[in-house]
Amino acid sequence: MIYFILFILGLCIGSFLNVLIYRESHEEASKTKKSKSKKNRFKNLNQHLPSWAQGRSYCDHCHKKLSWYDNIPLLSYIALKGKCRSCHKKIPFQYPLVEFLTGLQFTWIYFLLKSNLNFFSRFEGFYSFLTLGIYLLLGACFLAIFMADIKYQIIPDSAVFGGIILGFLKIFSDYRFTGMLDISLFSSALGATLFFLSLVLITKGKGMGIGDIKLAFLMGLILGYPKIIMALLFAFLTGAIVGVILVLTKEKSLKSKIAFGPFMIAGTITALFLADWIIKNLGFSYF
Ligand SMILES: [Zn+2]
Repeated sequence: MIYFILFILGLCIGSFLNVLIYRESHEEASKTKKSKSKKNRFKNLNQHLPSWAQGRSYCDHCHKKLSWYDNIPLLSYIALKGKCRSCHKKIPFQYPLVEFLTGLQFTWIYFLLKSNLNFFSRFEGFYSFLTLGIYLLLGACFLAIFMADIKYQIIPDSAVFGGIILGFLKIFSDYRFTGMLDISLFSSALGATLFFLSLVLITKGKGMGIGDIKLAFLMGLILGYPKIIMALLFAFLTGAIVGVILVLTKEKSLKSKIAFGPFMIAGTITALFLADWIIKNLGFSYF
């Protein structure tokens, strides 16, 4: 039962992520194009709200607002057979995909926390609830960054800053509960930030972007040392491999940009869940 509720909750959060990804990336694109058009600023009070808080979803093509029954996660997409009710253009497959993945992720995170006996014996009552919430929302932030960077090559600020706030909350909640404070979380965040900052400065922003620097901070804050090293190794390795494959298959040219955020997210997830196992079973040791 709780799995079902979490799955439904995930679908709704996923639907919200879609709006966030779409609006924030389009806002970013229009910001760089016409940053001087401040005249229209006061036209609509709505525009002062952050992009993700502005009203309901609408169709990407005809911009018609969706009624509530066309805005139900997953089900509406199936009922409409993937087409807009008014203009009959295709609804991007990304929408139901993100919704489904968020739902899946929510049940998966709960399962992982629950099967980790340590977790529910250590975290009782309020703190287990808080920690579950933190993990669920962190997962949602990671997914939003992953999808937005693949699709629009943009790391949404609200997702990365939301993640950072959740990271601090997690440190606080862990500290309140275990009485231990892992200092390496802060130094890893700082170290990763400086590392990416120097990368951006050296490559003059051609390889990495500002978004990657912010994401590096988040990674360090979540992972700490030594997991951050493993995550970054994984990110650079898989990034290089996928990059070579894309160039060889002529999907991308040598000069084209490949979003690095998704590899950083993949590295974070891998380090988060597999680091202990890898160290134990493969004898991986840090220099
Ligand atoms: Zn439409």
